[in-house]
Amino acid sequence: MKIVLLTPQSNRYGKNGAFDQRLRYAPLTMSTLAALIPQKLDVSVKCIDEWADDFDPYTIDADLVGITVITGNAPKAYRYSRILRDRGITVVLGGVHITLCPDEAEQHADAIVFGYAEEAWPDLLRDFATGLLKKRYDRQPTTLDGYPRPRRDLLKKEKYTTMNVVQATRGCVYRCTFCVVPSAWPKQYQRDPDDVAREASELSGKTFILIDLSPSSDQEYFGRLADAFAPLQKYWGGLATLDITDNQKLMKRLERSGCRGLLVGIESQNPKTLKAMGKSWQKPDDNLWRIRMLHDHGIAVNGCFVFGIDGDTERVFDETLEFVFKASIDLPRFAIATPFPNTPLYRMLDQEKRIINKNWEWYDGQHVVFRPKGITPECLYEGTKRTWKEAYKLTSIARRIATSAASLNPLVFVTSVGVNLGYNVYARKYPAYMPIPCEERSWFSAPEYAVAHQPLVLGEVNE
Ligand code: SF4
Repeated sequence: MKIVLLTPQSNRYGKNGAFDQRLRYAPLTMSTLAALIPQKLDVSVKCIDEWADDFDPYTIDADLVGITVITGNAPKAYRYSRILRDRGITVVLGGVHITLCPDEAEQHADAIVFGYAEEAWPDLLRDFATGLLKKRYDRQPTTLDGYPRPRRDLLKKEKYTTMNVVQATRGCVYRCTFCVVPSAWPKQYQRDPDDVAREASELSGKTFILIDLSPSSDQEYFGRLADAFAPLQKYWGGLATLDITDNQKLMKRLERSGCRGLLVGIESQNPKTLKAMGKSWQKPDDNLWRIRMLHDHGIAVNGCFVFGIDGDTERVFDETLEFVFKASIDLPRFAIATPFPNTPLYRMLDQEKRIINKNWEWYDGQHVVFRPKGITPECLYEGTKRTWKEAYKLTSIARRIATSAASLNPLVFVTSVGVNLGYNVYARKYPAYMPIPCEERSWFSAPEYAVAHQPLVLGEVNE
């Protein structure tokens, strides 16, 4: 049986998009799916990350193609699926978008995997091998312990900044209204910290990335994970919420563990906006000292902000920039609020008839797909673009790095300079404003979608 696992490129992160190749690390989904293929099956498997490789649905040789789908690449995944199925190739769709919109996805695939794949994917392959494929697979794991190591050998090492990516937890206890995590993966899982550390120790090199979305939501667990990493004598970066700075002991354990960078969702310095996001537990007045504490422990801060949630006005961009410089945020990132389907934000905006377009291609954190309150769509887009450009001017980079205590560490300094220059390229390539056409119905319910995309030519596919 020949299996191809595919991650289609999406507008923002595609080879032709504004996101820079130098900022991409190896994805874990395909290599994990490859590792989960039951050994009893006679299978050859190939992983294609379209961001790094070319994929041609008209010529690919496979019995089954499994496509990982996020909202921004869903339309492309559906187009590919139609071509592949017309050629007699079985198509399986899985991933966050499929879990958010399973009924829509089922119209575009032979089978879908809903939720976590650890149990459902091997079930599906066993059924496929015996000709008994069902339409939906949704058996959820009871634990993440005992699963095989991802098949990192199937990815092209030279295409990524690092292959050293590990995952310890899934899910999040918080319920931010714009976030897909609570809607797609409400159940939380934690791997045995010692097993995660063993996996990290098996990776070559001195650094690794922990890609968990919210490992610090259980601080006791996060501390044990840090303790397990400490003997490795490696350096790592990951994600966390700013409330970890309430816990002095945890901060020391993180420093000892080799943690040198954390991505934190600051989201907004406006309390009204945070309330609308369901994140009022985060207090803007505390953010400055919390970021300084991270810096004092040698941890660089990748601070993420979201623009366009109710409560934002056109002042939000200057206010955010002022905070970014005051807090010396090592790597600030700015996204346009995106109502991903079936999140609380989406349901609210849909009910208020404020969604401009339901073509998922625009749902990438870089386009305005709804009518914001107190700001026009154009102002939201242009303000976000200007904020990126201001934050990543060479003088701005120098100012932020020079005033961040974390940059005193040589590894943090070198990494920070390199990634800042990558984001400088990203900011300079930021596309011009393009109003999104008003189209309130979903494009992807058959048969409308099929009609809208006939006839399909290869040039359209390779956008
Ligand atoms: S944005 Fe972060 S903290 Fe909020 S629900 Fe999502 S993962 Fe959790």
